[in-house]
Amino acid sequence: MKILISACLLGENCKYNGGNNQNPELLRLLSGHTLIPVCPEILGGLPVPRVPAEIVNGVVVNRENRSVDELFRLGAEKALEIAEKKKPDLIILQSRSPSCGAKEIYDGTFSGKLIPGQGVFAELASCSGFHVMDVEDAIANRLEELEPDLNTEVYKS
Ligand code: SF4
Repeated sequence: MKILISACLLGENCKYNGGNNQNPELLRLLSGHTLIPVCPEILGGLPVPRVPAEIVNGVVVNRENRSVDELFRLGAEKALEIAEKKKPDLIILQSRSPSCGAKEIYDGTFSGKLIPGQGVFAELASCSGFHVMDVEDAIANRLEELEPDLNTEVYKS
């Protein structure tokens, strides 16, 4: 399968704190699939490290109470352009991110409380007809049961 995936899940240090979300089990499940890593926040021009952000009343705001909505939405648009060009069969995204969260996000109070919802890229990709999956569901659903390509390949975005 061709899978567009949050770049931090493949070990890219693009998280707000300069780290990544690499997961050995996920990497094993992805073996044999064609991977397209994207980080919407980097595509939007946000730096690493950066102040953490959450969605507050539909607007992405960082913990210093500054709107970063424009950059987050620009990054989501750019990530969508890559998806439209590469036409992945599946999009696997890091959980709970204000960009990539596919089914729940933080509630905008910076208190660690989660609510049902999607990050700005996850929502854009879902609304554009892509099959979007939270990484925790991808692991739980045993991605290995999906048909792999003959050759693993990682595109550069
Ligand atoms: S925007 Fe997505 S890919 Fe980038 S660090 Fe956050 S969760 Fe990972």
